[in-house]
Formats: sequence, C-alpha cells, structure tokens
Amino acid sequence: MAELFGRVAFIGIGLIGSSMARVMKRDKLAGTIVACARRKETLDACLKLGIADEVTPDYVTAVKNADLVVIATPISTNGEIAKIIGPHLKPGAIITDVGSVKQAVIDAVAPHLPKGVHFVPAHPLAGTEHSGPEAGFAEVFQGRWCILTPLSTTDAAAVEKVTAFWRAAGSKIQTMQALHHDKVLAITSHLPHLIAFTIVGTADDLAEDLKQEVIQYSASGFRDFTRIAASDPVMWRDIFMNNREAVLEVLQRFSEDLTALQRAIRRGDGDSLEKLFARTRAIRRGVIDAKQADMPKPGSK
Ligand code: NAP
Repeated sequence: MAELFGRVAFIGIGLIGSSMARVMKRDKLAGTIVACARRKETLDACLKLGIADEVTPDYVTAVKNADLVVIATPISTNGEIAKIIGPHLKPGAIITDVGSVKQAVIDAVAPHLPKGVHFVPAHPLAGTEHSGPEAGFAEVFQGRWCILTPLSTTDAAAVEKVTAFWRAAGSKIQTMQALHHDKVLAITSHLPHLIAFTIVGTADDLAEDLKQEVIQYSASGFRDFTRIAASDPVMWRDIFMNNREAVLEVLQRFSEDLTALQRAIRRGDGDSLEKLFARTRAIRRGVIDAKQADMPKPGSK
C-alpha cells in the first residue's frame, strides 16, 4: 500500500500507540513517525525498537507539521492534551484517538480543535493486559474490530484515511454513534472487567491460608479472571470515571440477574440454573464462530 500520511505524531506510545506505529513501519504507511511521552525510558525504547524516527517529551514540538496526530494516552489526559496542541495543529491535519470510551473523549477534545482540523475518534477492540512500547506488536489488531465514531461534521475523506490505516492493520471496521459505542462496551468490556476486579479483590481479602489455595488451584476458573484483573489500573480508573451512566445501567441489570440466581440456588431450583447455563454455552459458540475467541499473538497471521 502507498504511504498514507507524511508525518505522524503519537502522543502516548504504549501498548496501543506502539502497535499502531509498528503497523505503519511494517507497511510503510508513514513518512516520519514522531513519538511523544513523559518518561525518557519510553522515548529511548521507541528509538531502540525502531518504531519512531524522532522523539520528544513536548506535545507542541511533536504535532508541528504532522498530517496525522494519534492521541494514545489514558483518556483523562485527552482534553488537556487537545487544549495544548489545538492551536499548533497544521490546517487540514487529521487527529484521531484510541480511547476505550468515546462520548467523553469527544466532549473533552473536540472543543479545542480549530476549524479545518479533522477529528476521527476510534477505538480498536484489541489489546492485552500489558503496557508500554515493548508490549506492542503489529498483529494485535488482526481480525479484531475497530469502531469509528466520527462526528456528523467530520470530513468523509479524513474518515476514509483513518479507515485505510485500520484496514491495513487487519481490523474489521464499524462506524457507530459515540453514545451507542459506550453502551455496547459497557456490557462487552467494562462490566466483565469490573467483575474480574471484584472477584480477584475478594479472593485477596480472604484469610491467608485460603488465599494460598486460590492461587494454587487457580486453573479451575480463577486464572482467567486474574488475567483480566491485571489490566492497567489508570486506564481502567479512567474508563469507569468516563462511562458512568452506561456502566451503572448494566450493573443494575447484572445485580438483578445475580439476585435471581442467588434465589434459584437457595430454593434448589436446578432447572432455572441449567436453562441459563445452556443459553450461555450457546453464546460461547457464537463468539468462536465470529472468530473473536482467541487473542492474536506477536507474529500471528
Ligand atoms: P499504555 O501502554 O500504558 O501507554 C500509555 C502511554 O501514554 C505511554 O506512552 C505514557 O507515557 C503516555 N502517557 C500517560 N500519561 C500521559 C500524560 N499525562 N501525558 C503524556 N503521555 C502520557 O496504555 P495503552 O494500553 O496503550 O492505552 C492507551 C489508550 O488506549 C487508552 O486511552 C486506552 O483507553 C486505549 N485502549 C487500550 C487498550 C488496551 O487493551 N490496553 C485497548 C483499546 C484502547 P510514559 O510511558 O512516558 O508514561
């Protein structure tokens, strides 16, 4: 594929930003990649890994003359970053993000962008529980969905260019309203994470002798929750702080369903339990058929 962008600036280059930069390097989609992060270790790692041509801790220097700016920092920082870089963005530049919540990011970022700069909010439904530029790999997006939530005013050509990048990354692309995205993700991602954080926290609060056994016999179910509960604490704090309404709504429904299960167990109502478990087993089959069951690994096709 031909080069898509001349100069690309990554503000934040951890797991997601560095994976995107790797795709751009692999497929020669960018002329020059500039990486911006706070810590010197992160910037040094980008140069060492060959995923950036230039590095800087300064947002304004990073975005100077950039054709594409990717914000890939925790979402609570996005508004402040947009405020600082807004006046320095090149006319006609495209700005995109990868935040796991969309409406709050749009509300925080869009007001700071000058006319003639095109904002294409995006969320790749891909990742691992690891962080930082070393954790990234180009194949992480392969076969995964990337949801775009352009504003009604967003330039169609800019959306097409961002779409072309995600297609090159191997993603399947869906466009939807930001608020709808936030509702869908509340049930598919945010609630499952909340449950994992709770279960692992509850296990950690158990008496010392029981705790040892939870670790030892973790393969019987607990193990899968520990992987999810090992996800980045700052990223997840920001997700719950920025998608409150949708999360509280699904949490309410979940609590009611849990109470119904509690009642079925207390009353010895095995039929209700079996009926639910049969229904949920079929859902797993649907996830496998949609090829969303396995996580891509570095080097995988
Ligand atoms: P990450 O690996 O922890 O990387 C975060 C990057 O942001 C690092 O380069 C960090 O720089 C930088 N950063 C943090 N705070 C900053 C600040 N105040 N100013 C400038 N740079 C800052 O995180 P990630 O997993 O790539 O997540 C980034 C975004 O992607 C989040 O918005 C998240 O919602 C979204 N997302 C994540 C996943 C996932 O599975 N991880 C999936 C989809 C979307 P330093 O190294 O210098 O601290």
